Amino acid sequence: MTAAELAGRFAGLGAAGWGYVPYAALEQAMDSAARQKAQALCPGAAGVLVAAFPYFAGLRPGNLPLYARGLDYHLELPWRLDLLCADLARAYPGRMFHAGTDSSPLPEREAARQAGLGLMGRNGLIILPPYGSWIFLGTILTDQPLDLPRQAPSGPCMGCGRCIAACPAGALTEEGFAAERCLSHLTQKKGELPPEQAAAVARHPYIWGCDLCQTVCPYNARPARTGIPAFFQGLIDRLTPGDLESLTNRQFQQQYGQRAFAWRGPAVLRRNFALQAGQKTE
Ligand code: SF4
Ligand code: SF4
Repeated sequence: MTAAELAGRFAGLGAAGWGYVPYAALEQAMDSAARQKAQALCPGAAGVLVAAFPYFAGLRPGNLPLYARGLDYHLELPWRLDLLCADLARAYPGRMFHAGTDSSPLPEREAARQAGLGLMGRNGLIILPPYGSWIFLGTILTDQPLDLPRQAPSGPCMGCGRCIAACPAGALTEEGFAAERCLSHLTQKKGELPPEQAAAVARHPYIWGCDLCQTVCPYNARPARTGIPAFFQGLIDRLTPGDLESLTNRQFQQQYGQRAFAWRGPAVLRRNFALQAGQKTE
């Protein structure tokens, strides 16, 4: 398949950008477990297609991150990528094409960076104007070497430092990113949190996740909106404690199981509500 044909296919699937990187170029960014998983999935892995799917649907008030307000992207992206995998399998009989979204062993951001998609933000996110960093990445891993022009890797963002200044948890600093301090990680972490982490969650305006290093980014000031219905229809902007009250785990999954914020179950959300309520009554 030519680059023009792939561009048409990706655009038809709702992707705003795509690129290709030889698998060997990604290996040094993968630990041995990830390399083993990738090889088990696709022995003789040769290349990775990576695509960006926009999800910005407006900056509406709420306490959920924008990525988690629509349908779970883990449900929406795979079927889109699988359509292209089927086309590719017909074009290259006997070759393997595996779609991946988040759960893939591949380092998706590094794949996007090396494939030259957009810009590399200091907040660690790929920025794809005019969609900003409000994009989901999806990959296709294949054992078919694709003869596609290699793009220059993504350049850096303008480096204004607003994301670092805005980070409320000290996760993003001039020295780099400390995942264990990030509120996106802490609001999803199960169990009782140590006092310092609990206090950070209690002060946080979101009940799940964190958008702060994205909302301040100049590239996200007036982003283009997604054209993917699953990401702009039926949005849930806000959860309240009452939404979860007396729901069993099964009822919670029935009601919210197709949302990205549901994968940890209701207990972690209830814990976050309790921490935030405690903070307000102090
Ligand atoms: S998601 Fe929030 S806590 Fe995490 S680095 Fe960005 S601003 Fe900091
Ligand atoms: S806020 Fe500034 S430094 Fe941070 S990613 Fe955006 S442009 Fe880069």
